[in-house]
Amino acid sequence: MQPPKEYEGSLVAKQKLTENLSLFTIQIKDPTFSFIAGQFMMLSVTQDRGLARAFSICSGPEKKSDLEFCMKINYPSVLSEKLEQAPLKTKVYVKGPFGAFKLKPITQDIVLIAGGTGIAPLRSMLQELVRQKVEMHIWCFYRFKNEEEYLFKEELESIMKKNKKFHLIPSVSTPKPTWKGETERIQNIIAKYIKDPNVVDCYICGPPQMVKDLIEALPRLGFSEEAIHKEAW
Ligand SMILES: Cc1cc2nc3c(=O)[nH]c(=O)nc-3n(C[C@H](O)[C@H](O)[C@H](O)COP(=O)(O)OP(=O)(O)OC[C@H]3O[C@@H](n4cnc5c(N)ncnc54)[C@H](O)[C@@H]3O)c2cc1C
Repeated sequence: MQPPKEYEGSLVAKQKLTENLSLFTIQIKDPTFSFIAGQFMMLSVTQDRGLARAFSICSGPEKKSDLEFCMKINYPSVLSEKLEQAPLKTKVYVKGPFGAFKLKPITQDIVLIAGGTGIAPLRSMLQELVRQKVEMHIWCFYRFKNEEEYLFKEELESIMKKNKKFHLIPSVSTPKPTWKGETERIQNIIAKYIKDPNVVDCYICGPPQMVKDLIEALPRLGFSEEAIHKEAW
């Protein structure tokens, strides 16, 4: 496994996803760099390591020189606000990869559960699963507050259209009257979709309370505790 190292990256693209969420692309021109889908990097716009912040890599490991990060922009803040205001080509100090939350070898069906920006490391995993053309079923449960925060909607729907074994279940907590999908919390609907919960690998990423609730609920629903992997922030 790649040990964490320090790199000098460059901000090469910025895309506003919603009012307060942006996607940044940071380029690392070091051919020795690699990571496993699900891992995170420490990012900083100054050399002061105390001002570095953790962000999950949101793109797949195949594009290892152009790392995407999906960030909530906080005001004021030491990193996200600075990046939001920074011009392209700004130098970004990057250290990593870090984290035990990473895609394991694929031996059984996979359940991805995201809450809000928790979709970031799961998108990286999904891109890797698509690249590997895995034969297993992949279930992606994605919970967000409102439809504006349905990140990567087109991309996820496009994967679903091309792959009969990819099942996308978005769930919104405050739906518009036109919303036709799920509105319940994931632990209340998952049993409807996953019929053999003891033979899936489950990756959960989202806000701490959501992850805690799922960790408590899933074993009661028959999911194997050893096969549940989680990250929360
Ligand atoms: C493993 C891991 C992966 C993560 N991945 C992601 C990810 O992919 N996307 C993501 O969005 N987050 C992610 N996070 C969370 C992220 O690291 C933190 O939220 C981080 O603090 C964000 O940095 P920042 O520069 O936006 O805010 P910070 O500067 O760290 O500020 C944190 C909060 O404090 C407030 N604050 C800061 N300074 C002041 C001040 N002077 N006065 C008043 N309030 C202040 C900010 O407004 C903000 O609400 C991850 C966390 C972990 C641990």
